[in-house]
Amino acid sequence: MAFKTDIEIAREAKKRPIQEIGKKLGISSDDLLPYGHDKAKVSQTFINSVQDRDDGKLILVTAINPTPAGEGKTTTTVGLGDGLNRIGKNACVCIREASLGPNFGMKGGAAGGGYAQVVPMEEMNLHFTGDFHAITSAHSLLSAMIDNHIYWGNECEIDVRRVVWRRVVDMNDRALRQINVSLGGVANGFPREGGFDITVASEVMAILCLARDLKDLQKRLGDMIVAYRRDRSPVFARDIKADGAMTVLLKDAMQPNLVQTLENNPAFVHGGPFANIAHGCNSVIATTTALKLADYVVTEAGFGADLGAEKFLNIKCRKAGLAPSVIVVVATVRAMKMNGGVAKADLGNENVDAVQKGCPNLGRHIENMKSFGVPVVVAINHFVNDTDAEVQAVKDYVAGQGAEAIVSRHWELGSEGSADLATRVAQIADGDHANFASIYPDEMPLFQKIETVAKRIYRADEVLADQKIRNQLKDWEEQGYGHLPVCMAKTQYSFTTDPERRGAPTGFGVPVREVRLSAGAGFVVVICGEIMTMPGLPRVPSAENIRLNDDGQIEGLF
Ligand code: ADP
Ligand code: MG
Repeated sequence: MAFKTDIEIAREAKKRPIQEIGKKLGISSDDLLPYGHDKAKVSQTFINSVQDRDDGKLILVTAINPTPAGEGKTTTTVGLGDGLNRIGKNACVCIREASLGPNFGMKGGAAGGGYAQVVPMEEMNLHFTGDFHAITSAHSLLSAMIDNHIYWGNECEIDVRRVVWRRVVDMNDRALRQINVSLGGVANGFPREGGFDITVASEVMAILCLARDLKDLQKRLGDMIVAYRRDRSPVFARDIKADGAMTVLLKDAMQPNLVQTLENNPAFVHGGPFANIAHGCNSVIATTTALKLADYVVTEAGFGADLGAEKFLNIKCRKAGLAPSVIVVVATVRAMKMNGGVAKADLGNENVDAVQKGCPNLGRHIENMKSFGVPVVVAINHFVNDTDAEVQAVKDYVAGQGAEAIVSRHWELGSEGSADLATRVAQIADGDHANFASIYPDEMPLFQKIETVAKRIYRADEVLADQKIRNQLKDWEEQGYGHLPVCMAKTQYSFTTDPERRGAPTGFGVPVREVRLSAGAGFVVVICGEIMTMPGLPRVPSAENIRLNDDGQIEGLF
């Protein structure tokens, strides 16, 4: 049986005008700032006006350690949102915006898949409402102002060898990773080394996603460290006087974007920070706004639960005062097999043994999520080639763990396929069983925070770090940054730092290579392994096959 591609399904969507979608959440036309017919931003005045309301229930969708293709977290988030609406609940979805660059490398979108998608998906994956362009502009303004500051006399006494603020562009371009700037003579400034990251890796992105409002945004932008002096004291973006103008450039990007699912239910799509050097989930302002407008808000955390959910809970929820009522752990038969040792090429063959062998990976994630005090449900995101025996093996395993696994067929059937999952998730949320607590207190020393995550979530024996790194953390504690949470950056494929060690390994250490302070975003980045902040394109980039057809439609993107 042939299945339609994501883009074919999305093209057939019977979209409703965005004002109708707004109405479902009680947003009047006056409070929607439309970008075309099917996208709108929500006005700040309206957001301010609903702050006294009670919050709905927050449902977090996360996953086991994934296969390289992704496990269907976004697809399940959208499917569950539609499922809740189908059973008569007032539910809204909150997901990230897509980075433009990677679309031209490997095929694959960020709007869900099959019959569980948000639309307009082409736009969401390309320029959308211009938020990422605004972030690129704000970031670039600061880059330009730093070199300009040095050019006109360097009043702040920046050590040009210690400028840490890089440049960004929303493109996969490895040629820009390491560059020299200000070449070509006196009129062009003081030559120094620099480099580009992809826009989603910008600290401005992380800040936009954690800021409560425009005031908080400006404060955090000002707090960013851009360079150091010869005495190693930090120079802040505030010292360069860039925070005000950057906020102006970001004023519209701060407002959440409203779109719809294929079933015409509301979805906020806003912000998209990297999931390794940043926290990897949609903006706080989108989530907190959605909670004021809907009874149930379904949102996604990037990567597997060891990274994405850990950061969602320890960084975003802690900072924004959020608490999930239920955590849905997405598992697929494919990823179980992969964690059980099957190669990617053989995932299509039935292999109950491998499924069973991979299940301890799921078991550890279930246990971890429960340790935050939140009830857990496993969603088996059903692929059409999954056999009954394989699905039953996952269900049996999960039952043995004292949890429940529910098959969901939203990809194939839309909300008809996710109604069972939605019914159970709503029941648990309504039962108010959650008693959420972060796994470490603010006061804990930074190194101990790293150890807590490594030991309690990854199940490592120890954290390995040079004295230099430990001293750096101590210095930051003395400078008043000790209360910050840690933002772990490691491979998403394993609990360890080795992407090949799948399943539920034990008997390993977590080596810390480097630590970085994101003083504006408000976390300490802990780098364990190779982390790329400017991706490259593959040998045959998907861009080679992307074009407009005779009807003006996009071909080859998804
Ligand atoms: P994640 O959010 O975990 O990265 P996505 O939801 O974006 O994953 O899905 C990754 C890809 O897998 C998408 O192209 C999507 O269409 C596809 N996919 C997801 N679920 C299914 C499914 N049940 N059957 C077939 N393809 C699926
Ligand atoms: Mg996703």
